[in-house]
Amino acid sequence: MKNVYMRNVFKSARLLLKDKFIGSMLGTFVGDALGMPVEGYSMEAIKDQFGEIREMLETRAGKGTYTDDTEMMIGTAESLIECRGFNGEHMAKCFLENYHENRGYGGGTKKALSLIRDGELWHKAGEKVVSGGSYGNGSAMRMAPIGILYFKDEENLRKVAHQASLITHAHTLGKDAAAIQAFAVAKAIQGNPNSALKKEAFIDALINFAETSELKTRLESIKLIMNHNVSREKIVSILGHSSVSFESVPASIYSFLKYPDSFEEAVVYAISLGGDTDTIGAMTGAISGAFLGIEEIPERWLNQLENTGKAKAYVNNLAEKLWEIGNY
Ligand SMILES: [Mg+2]
Repeated sequence: MKNVYMRNVFKSARLLLKDKFIGSMLGTFVGDALGMPVEGYSMEAIKDQFGEIREMLETRAGKGTYTDDTEMMIGTAESLIECRGFNGEHMAKCFLENYHENRGYGGGTKKALSLIRDGELWHKAGEKVVSGGSYGNGSAMRMAPIGILYFKDEENLRKVAHQASLITHAHTLGKDAAAIQAFAVAKAIQGNPNSALKKEAFIDALINFAETSELKTRLESIKLIMNHNVSREKIVSILGHSSVSFESVPASIYSFLKYPDSFEEAVVYAISLGGDTDTIGAMTGAISGAFLGIEEIPERWLNQLENTGKAKAYVNNLAEKLWEIGNY
């Protein structure tokens, strides 16, 4: 047992759960902010220019700035709290109210939100973005609040994840990836951080939960390679690292499983894969933070998060409210 976990041993299960809720939401924020400056970089470019990303980088927008991932996670949580559960119209309204163009929204989400702003129904806009709906990762990235609130209720977790995805990402693959990301957070919440993660059981549960062959196949690949030493290049060629949901969700799950006992190593690794680094960082952070809890997120990262807009204290507070309404 790593002695960093010892402090958790003396914590009641209920308080540890609160730490895990906060860890998942601030884990999203931290991973998003850390990965943002190198979004779209190749693995080689990150390695050549930075070695690895272990500190928040200075950017035009400032250090520790969050992007659409965190902004939409905030809207998801606000709506779940205010409605005491899922309400699609209200969640879409929260997304619109929080929307800032400069947070780096994807094209599909922009289009869906502008359709809703112009009067389209919340459950129709996502289908009109592109034929068949989008399967980008823009819905999976914001799933932490759904994974934590419904962590004991697999059926409702799936239902709510699908519906919440539908607002912007209506494709079956987009919805499945979002539900899998939420379920990975839920499984991580259930895990006991005072002992080693049962990796086989974790990935098996996800494989069983997946509904599409694209996601199932990649999760099965993770199971085959997760206990072997596989190069980053190979990981990217097997799983992918783009903003396509069925690439970046598995890449995030793999990153967590590679370093289940270290938030820092998992997120640093996730970002080192290149590609959609803010979202892979955010989703890895959501899962790792849900397993390890807020105390395992490096303080130097938390201290560098931007302090404007709906920032750290606000996100912390949303996680506490979800913990309260979940009545755990
Ligand atoms: Mg982003």
